[in-house]
This record gives sequence, C-alpha cells and structure tokens, in this order.
Amino acid sequence: MRVILIKYGELSTKKGNRNFFINTLYNNVKEKLSKYSVKIFKDRARMYIEFLDEDLEQIKKIIDKIFGIHMYHIALIVDTNIEKIKSGVLELLNLEDFKTFKVISKRSDKSFPIHSQELNHVLGSLVLKNMDNVKVDVHSPDIFLNVEVRENKSYIYLNSYKGLGGYPVGSQPRGMLMLSGGIDSPVAGYLAMKRGVLVDAVYFEAIPHTSLEAREKVIELSKKLAVYCSHINLHVVDFTPIQEAIYKNCRSDYCITIMRRMMYRIMEKLVKINNGYVIINGESIGQVASQTLTSMAVINEVTSVPVIRPVACLDKLEIISLAKKISTYETSILPYEDCCTVFVPKHPVINPKIEVASVEEEKFDYKKMINEAVTSINTIKIIDNDNSEFSELL
Ligand code: ATP
Ligand code: MG
Repeated sequence: MRVILIKYGELSTKKGNRNFFINTLYNNVKEKLSKYSVKIFKDRARMYIEFLDEDLEQIKKIIDKIFGIHMYHIALIVDTNIEKIKSGVLELLNLEDFKTFKVISKRSDKSFPIHSQELNHVLGSLVLKNMDNVKVDVHSPDIFLNVEVRENKSYIYLNSYKGLGGYPVGSQPRGMLMLSGGIDSPVAGYLAMKRGVLVDAVYFEAIPHTSLEAREKVIELSKKLAVYCSHINLHVVDFTPIQEAIYKNCRSDYCITIMRRMMYRIMEKLVKINNGYVIINGESIGQVASQTLTSMAVINEVTSVPVIRPVACLDKLEIISLAKKISTYETSILPYEDCCTVFVPKHPVINPKIEVASVEEEKFDYKKMINEAVTSINTIKIIDNDNSEFSELL
C-alpha cells in the first residue's frame, strides 16, 4: 500500500504548541481532501494519507497548496521485516527507469536488528543482483532509494516533493486584508496566509466611478487566494459617498492621503467587528506618493491597530513574480480601474502633514459617513474554487 508521507518542516521547531499547529494542519488537510476517499493519520513527526491510486495526481495538486507542509513523499508501506522491505524495494524500483542509485536507510526502530549502514549494503546488493545495468553512485545518482524503518511499519520512497512551507492557515487569528484589484494586495494576502493568518478581505468600491467589472475582478482574486485557505469573507464597502465628499471639500493634493485615512478608519472598525487583530495591505515603500514613509506615517496615524505590510520591502518585479506564481497576476492586470486610480489628483502630496490632513477632513462629517459605510457593508463568502484542472482541460 502507498501513502503520502508529509513532513512538517518549520512546524517541528515548535515546542509547547506543536500539537496545536499539527492539529490545525490536520484539519486543513482533512477539509481540503474532503471530496476524496482518504484516511489521514498524524503523529508528532509526520502525517500520513492513505488514498485511492486514481486520485493521487489530484491530491498532490491540492497538497501543493497547503501551508505548513515542508516536504512530502509518496511512500510504499510494508511491515518492518527485512523480507517485506526487500520485496517492497524491488516492487518500487521495477516501475522506475534509472541507471544509478543510492540507498539511504534510516532506522528509528532501534530494535530492528540491521543497522542503517548495513541495511544500505543489503538493499544495494539486492538491487544490483536483481536489476540489469544499474550501478551505485553515491554522489549524483539518478534516484535516491529512501528506506525508513520504524516500529511496525517501514516506508520506502524515491522522490521528495517540496511543499509550500509556512504555517497552517488558522494557526494565527484573523487579519483584515485591504484587497484592491491591483497586483500588490493579493500577494500581500498570500504572504500573510503563509504565516498562518486567517484572512478576510475588504474591498472599497465607488460605483458608478468604478465598474462592476472591477468588483468581479476582486471576487476573482479572492477565489484565487481562497485556494490557499478554506474560504475568504469578502466585505464590500460602498465608498462612493465618502470619496465624493473628499473630492468636493478637501484640497486636491491631499485627497489621496485623506481617502486612505478614511479607509484605515473603516478598517479599524472592521477589525473589531470581525474579531481580527491586524490590518494587512499591499503597500510597498516608495511605490507611489501615498506610500512614502512620510505618507504612511500620516495615514497610519488614524489607527492604533497594527498594520502588516508583507510586500513593503519588495521590488515591484519581485511582487510581480510572486503574483505570477500564485496566478493572480493575469487577473490583476485586467484594465478595470479602482477607486484610487479614478480619483488620483495631478499632484498628490508626497510629504503630507498630519495637521493639514486633519484640518482638511474636518470639512465634512466623515464620522457619520464612516458609520454608514460600515453598516451597509455587503459580505460575500468566497469558497475555494480551484479551476486550474478545468482550465487545463480547455
Ligand atoms: P495594488 O497593486 O494592491 O492595488 P497599489 O500599488 O495600486 O496596490 P495603492 O492603490 O496606493 O497601491 O494601494 C495601496 C494598498 O491599499 C493596496 O495594496 C491595497 O492593500 C489597499 N487598497 C487600495 N485601494 C483599495 C481598494 N479599493 N479596496 C481595498 N484596498 C485598497
Ligand atoms: Mg491599487
């Protein structure tokens, strides 16, 4: 019988709350594979998934997108008994095309009578004797034959598959991601999830200044992010009244600064309402006028909720390459404008002053408008909808 053998990686450095991390990962794997006929077992060192052969390729695609998995193998399980191990090795290698190999044995069951070194020799000789035209190469073999001898059961495998790493989503509480239709914020959301943060998304829209297509784009991006967790709650804020009030009443060079201060104020309320702890966004130092350090300080001044900016120190090209890797890039570059681009003034202030921003925003009753915006929010639950399989078929 074969199993998927999962190694936790960074999780295994956790001491006191290791079980919590493993259980979170276990629940995530179970939920993601709920459509498949699988059995999942876990211990402190690894997780094992029994599967139906015909589902393997699909299951691998899903496992490849679960945070908290460092590495995995497709392993043959046999009883811990030298004859069974030998026949298992031949069974596995007979399916492979290779010229050189190296045996790597690990004996964690110390009651097993053959030491690792000796087992390497025993199994190496077995392969040489039973297979034609193959030889040992300890430096760069075509295949590594891994044999792990454990109590009761032993695991034999050839390939290692790299997992996404990080921590299982849900091992940290909720963060609220400001998700625009751009390139940066989906990447920021992905990176936050990678550290285990449960992510809710917030989109500020300004219909009729922004289109329904722009909202569709954000929904599509949320779907792509939901592949890495179980689902995403997307909160859509009607930002039109606030935005119009800003442009009617405030100095044009400060409009963007004030608009972003309003967004942060709304975010702070949403963090509280949704039991979140932090705001997450796609700001990157120096990218635009509102992302200079001085701008960030003036914008950040309106909230005491921590703001996490996962892409703050990445170059645009680095962000783009991550966006391509997580397949959000193609959606992000669709042309529909969001509220920031529609209202962008000719000369936004690069080094704004808090005092000026405060005076300007007092020119309209923003507190009332913020409360109205928060009470009229529309929340859409976006379920993981990985269509990659489907699109490959088209
Ligand atoms: P992005 O590529 O993510 O759109 P950007 O470089 O266009 O970012 P800004 O428009 O200044 O930068 O926005 C900075 C961050 O503020 C975004 O990454 C996003 O997190 C948030 N943000 C901007 N506009 C919106 C919006 N309409 N709804 C939600 N969040 C927004
Ligand atoms: Mg943007």
